[in-house]
Amino acid sequence: MKIAAIQTHILEHKLDTAFESASARFDHRRHLLVEVTCEDGTTGWGECLGPPALNAAVINHYKPVFLGADPLRTEPLWLQAYNLLRDQGMRGLAITALSGIDVALWDIKGKHFGMPVATLLGGRVRDSVRAYATGSFRRDGVDRVEDIAAEVADYRAQGFDAVKIKIGFDVAEDLRVIAAVRDAIGPDMALMIDANHGYDTGEAIALGQAAAPYDIAWFEEPVIPENLTAYQDVRAGQPIPVAGGETWHGRWAMQQALDARAVDILQPDLCGVGGFTEMRRVADQATLAGTRLVPHVWGTGVQIAASLQWMAAQLPDPPRPEARDPILEFDRTDMPFRQAILTKPLDHKNGAVQIPDAPGLGIEIDRAALDQYSPTP
Ligand SMILES: [Mg+2]
Repeated sequence: MKIAAIQTHILEHKLDTAFESASARFDHRRHLLVEVTCEDGTTGWGECLGPPALNAAVINHYKPVFLGADPLRTEPLWLQAYNLLRDQGMRGLAITALSGIDVALWDIKGKHFGMPVATLLGGRVRDSVRAYATGSFRRDGVDRVEDIAAEVADYRAQGFDAVKIKIGFDVAEDLRVIAAVRDAIGPDMALMIDANHGYDTGEAIALGQAAAPYDIAWFEEPVIPENLTAYQDVRAGQPIPVAGGETWHGRWAMQQALDARAVDILQPDLCGVGGFTEMRRVADQATLAGTRLVPHVWGTGVQIAASLQWMAAQLPDPPRPEARDPILEFDRTDMPFRQAILTKPLDHKNGAVQIPDAPGLGIEIDRAALDQYSPTP
């Protein structure tokens, strides 16, 4: 079996209502899918976290490594591609682009052997996962506190038992949002907060101290991700468990964060950290460091499907009779192509998502939807 072609598909949708986190404004949704086709017709799908056009450019640079190669050789191909950009890459786009190809190769591997990726990773531990609703961005033209309180009440009504909201704008206003959200969801639903590195160290510590009585499960990306000393200060200065990792790509970046004891919860993104090949190593690193791993998920149905395969095989850590299961990040923001590109949507039921058991990622792509959301040049 040989790789015949690698094609990138940029998906785009203009939003009716723009929204923003503390680090990014969204007036469009744009995501990049990677399609790898073999000479025998087998096709694998992957996705890249981050700017689609830039990831696509890096993928073009990697193509000579992969075209004509055996797609089952995921480890040596990963290393060869990484070597191509090691001196200028190591992190960021060099790894996010490689992630999309690697996920597609594992999809091919699964289809070749007639098994779901979870089986190749070591075997299925669970058939479904609990999902938490991600949303609550700041939207234009509305009262933020009221808007988000209504939004999270709706997640509760849909059956979710956990929600993550966006903060990192202004400590006083963010605290009003947190208070209103806890009031809207009641005492039993898990609540996480994500600052998207909008605070400095002092603000993050003040926010964490004041928000702790609202029973916060984790405080995500309180400060800029390259400042691991600031992470240490936030961990030491306030009581909420600190989470982060969606921007630390590759095992070397992860090891620096783990060595610095920067977080209580590590959040590698399968489509950013280096695909399944690198995620396996990062999971071992997290175990060795005694750090909980909860994957970050921000993408289309392809990224959700890949993350589900990973979580199907994610071992309980620590192992115990009533082990804590992983929890799936389930983006609820406006993105019509998220599920439309799948012939069978991966939706939740009462806050839980079934994990497909067909070969590879267990999904099929709807070509008509792909065309519908591909911008015309
Ligand atoms: Mg985040």
